[in-house]
Order: sequence, then structure tokens, then C-alpha cells
Amino acid sequence: MTTKRDYYEVLGVARDASGTQIKAAYRKLALKYHPDRNPGDKEAEEKFKEAAEAYDVLSDPQKRQIYDQYGHQGLEGSGFSGVGGFEDIFSSFSDIFEDFFGFGSRRRSGSRARRGSDLRYDLTLDFLDAAFGVETEIEVEKYATCPSCQGSQCAPGAEPEVCPNCHGAGQVGRSQGFFTIRTTCPQCRGQGRVITRPCEECGGAGRIMVTRKVSVKVPAGVDNGSRLRLAGEGEAGTNGGPPGDLYVFIHVRPHEFFIRDEDDVICKVPISFVQAALGDEITVATLEGETRVRVPKGTQPGETVRLPGLGIASLRGGRRGDQVIQFVVKTPTNLTKKQESLLREFAKLEEKKLSTKLKKFLKAGISKAAQ
Ligand SMILES: [Zn+2]
Ligand SMILES: [Zn+2]
Repeated sequence: MTTKRDYYEVLGVARDASGTQIKAAYRKLALKYHPDRNPGDKEAEEKFKEAAEAYDVLSDPQKRQIYDQYGHQGLEGSGFSGVGGFEDIFSSFSDIFEDFFGFGSRRRSGSRARRGSDLRYDLTLDFLDAAFGVETEIEVEKYATCPSCQGSQCAPGAEPEVCPNCHGAGQVGRSQGFFTIRTTCPQCRGQGRVITRPCEECGGAGRIMVTRKVSVKVPAGVDNGSRLRLAGEGEAGTNGGPPGDLYVFIHVRPHEFFIRDEDDVICKVPISFVQAALGDEITVATLEGETRVRVPKGTQPGETVRLPGLGIASLRGGRRGDQVIQFVVKTPTNLTKKQESLLREFAKLEEKKLSTKLKKFLKAGISKAAQ
């Protein structure tokens, strides 16, 4: 094994150089030693690769930290194998080369493995299913790998052939002064290969539109805006790329009686003014059925009673929310003669109480004013 030069030395930057400084230094070296400018120059080729490897490590905070701490050996120990041939460099640095050379990179965009798209599904749930969780099946329309050609795009027995126009390069070159300007091959659209006998099932696309049933486990406690990720259930990738993910967006139907407030459930319960005044015990609905609740004597409209632990399970774990009973005091209508006369009696007594209070209050006010 040959000894490797220090990456900072390779790029000619200080050990505390910023990302921008590192990128600029690499850009300079890459331009200088680019194979298009140094055809057949082995030394330039080596320098070009060396710079690419140094840049790969120093531009990645994680790799850079390992290198700073443990050097080349540390990177080997962590599974980093360095940069291989030119294709490797061009594919892994395609972004930066696009930056540097415009379309001058040798990237074969068409044949690169591409991850499938992520998909979105909107799932509407009943209030109680959201509260307790539910397992349900949804139907998703998506591109899946063609079962006939397994994504190869070719008819059975056929194989892709090397593109006769670009001889497999995926790009065609045209000299213009210092540089060779490369453009995507029009015949194979950059693939470097052409399919002469495409798969009949998918028309050579390698993927077909299908409707798939996907089972979704909705955890207890989801709410409007919750999002579930089903890894790998998105669209199939192309050229051997991995599938995308499926995101299920949750919507919850409002409930007739229950209103959600974070992990608490609020429930408005009507009581008569007599119950409010004298107190009572009543039956109320909870998420899990009925329960008895005491109405305290002298309950005011809007006052609440908490039933601990009868709310909604917390998505983040921890304790379950409460149910909050909010009393709505109803004023009686359609009184009978007897009820009315009793209320008038009651009112007279109240008046008396009030006037005693008022006298006391006025007296206190006067004596205060006299001071
Ligand atoms: Zn097919
Ligand atoms: Zn071609």
C-alpha cells in the first residue's frame, strides 16, 4: 500500500478551512487537472483523483471529523474505500461538476439508478379510530416494477445493446477551443444503450401503473395533520433504484359530542338550573362508554369537572389526556303555574337577601366616604 498524502495538503487549505474554502480549492484543482484538459496525462489523472478523494472527505462533516481524529486509517476502519475510477468520480460529484463545467460533466444521467417518487395519501378517520388507533387497508395507485421484465425494459430474452451513435458513452463530444463540449446523445438520451426489443407489458418503461392494497397501522392518538411514513411503499425506482416512501396524511372527522383539545377531550353536558344550584349526580358519555359524574352544588355555567385519564393517548408516549366535562346550565321554559309561583316565591326571598346585602354595602360605602 502506498502512503497517502494529507487531504488538507492535497487541496492546499488550512486545517480549519471552511466548506466554501474547501470547495473553492477543489474547484481550482479539478479545473487544472481535468482529463479533458490533460488528455493522456497520467500524472494529471492521479492528481485529479487525489483531489476528488480529498474533497469527498473534507466536504462531508462526518467523514472530515473521522479523518481529523483518526487520519486515513480511521476512514478505512469506518468503511470508506476512497474514490474509484473516473466514472465513480463523475457520478458521485455530478452536482459539483455540473456547477463547474455546466453540461461538461461525463455524467450519464439517463442510466443512473433513481429512487422512486414519494406518494401522498389522504386518510380520513372517525374520531374514535383516531383516539384508539386502527388498522386499515388503503388502495394506492402507483408505478410498480414491471413484473414481466423485472424493470429491465426488454422483451423476454432480449438485452439492451450498446448505442451505435455514442458507442455507450451516453454523450457526444464537440471540440470548442480549449474544452470538448459534451452533450447528451440524442439517440439513447444519455443511457449509453438502446433497447431494440422493448418489453410489451410496460412498453419499455420498466414500470407499470398498478393499484395496490396497503395495510396501514394507525397509532392511537393521531390528529388532524399527523403524517405516517410507510417506507418503500412509494413508487418503484428506475434502473435498479430503491422505491420511494408513502406518506399517509391523517384527517379526523369531528365527533357529535366530543371536541379534542391536545390530548384532552372536551364534552359539553347540559344540566338544569336546579341541578346546578342543588348539585346532582348524572350519567355522561366518555370515549369508553358511560360513567357517573357528580355535579357540585352551586355549579356555574361553563364550570368544568375533569375525569383523569379518560382522554386521548399521547402520540409521544406518556400519560393519557383527560376528559373535561363542561356544564351548560339550561334556563327552564314552559313552566307550569305551580313552578312559576314557586319561582316567584324564590325570587322574593332572593330580593330580601339582596336588599340586606345592599344596605350593608351602602352603609360601608358611606362610612368610607365620611373618613
Ligand atoms: Zn416490462
Ligand atoms: Zn447514445
